[in-house]
Amino acid sequence: MILKDRFGRVIETIRISVTDRCNFKCMYCSIDEDTIFLPRESIMSFEEIVEITRILAQMGIKRVKLTGGEPLIRKNITELVKNLAAIKEIKDLSLTTNGSMLTKKMVYNLKRAGLHRLNISLDSLNPETFRLITGGDKLERVLEGIENSLKAGFKTVKINTVLIKGINDTEILDLFNFAKNNNLTLRFIEEMPLSAGSSKGIMGVSNDDVFNILKDYLVTDSKITGDIYPGPAVTFKIKGGSGRIGFISPISHPFCSGCNRIRLTTSGKLLPCISRNEGLNILQLMRNRVDPTTIKKKIQEIVFYRKFSHNGFSDYILMNRLGG
Ligand code: SAM
Ligand code: SF4
Repeated sequence: MILKDRFGRVIETIRISVTDRCNFKCMYCSIDEDTIFLPRESIMSFEEIVEITRILAQMGIKRVKLTGGEPLIRKNITELVKNLAAIKEIKDLSLTTNGSMLTKKMVYNLKRAGLHRLNISLDSLNPETFRLITGGDKLERVLEGIENSLKAGFKTVKINTVLIKGINDTEILDLFNFAKNNNLTLRFIEEMPLSAGSSKGIMGVSNDDVFNILKDYLVTDSKITGDIYPGPAVTFKIKGGSGRIGFISPISHPFCSGCNRIRLTTSGKLLPCISRNEGLNILQLMRNRVDPTTIKKKIQEIVFYRKFSHNGFSDYILMNRLGG
């Protein structure tokens, strides 16, 4: 069975938000004072996440990314990783984290549980700027987390960076050198104007500008579309080094035409597109004991009628809930 939309796009990847909670308050992601977390009973249990993933795996999903909020905040996350890794159809299991809880023990346990890949967010190498962006002083811990992950021998460790005008856009070369010296894949993600950033008037940086600054340091004929798996990144090798630089450009170069991913929110809603909060509440169906065959039909239907592309982003969207 394959999951396909009416434009012929085959859906093989899902991003699952395992919690809306986070120990950071990134300026482009988190809304400040009035952050309202979902009531515990509306959040998917681990058993429910595994059950939904099993259904989706039977329908053609092969790649799962765990995200949030901060996924490592969720107690016993390695148990979830272990149970997802045991689903035979899942060929790629990865996790995106802010890196602040990647102790040696956590990294070891994640690896042992069957996690294949780690993505770690790092927006600044300067403690002051890091604090300004994330609202905390955990830069040292994140850098340690990156080091621990590299030593643990994951298939890949990727670094995600969001640039904000006037805040960290002066660090492009520093971040590039960090990637080069540590043999990392660093991806610049254009800031999407969702709730948090829009309400604060934050301005992202175009990846065209970043590419222009870095192009002389990159092997520009080494362009890899989709990185190691099909996806939105366009990646280049670094000249004279084994690191890579990737560009994820939802604003300057929207990649809707090749979009092969869907999302599962913290409260179990399947979203066919990141830009709208509209979807199918699978969790509710499961809790109402709707049979798996009917659930599968509804999933097929909502995926089939996916829009071809979005017309901008809905500004009431909260990244932590929909699984960024
Ligand atoms: N807490 C984890 C982390 O920070 O990696 C996982 C969740 S976070 C929502 C996943 C990714 O989304 C991070 O790399 C973060 O930088 C990115 N992100 C959050 N808000 C964004 C926005 N408005 N535009 C672009 N990327 C965003
Ligand atoms: Fe938390 Fe990640 Fe959002 Fe930052 S980007 S507030 S670390 S969920």
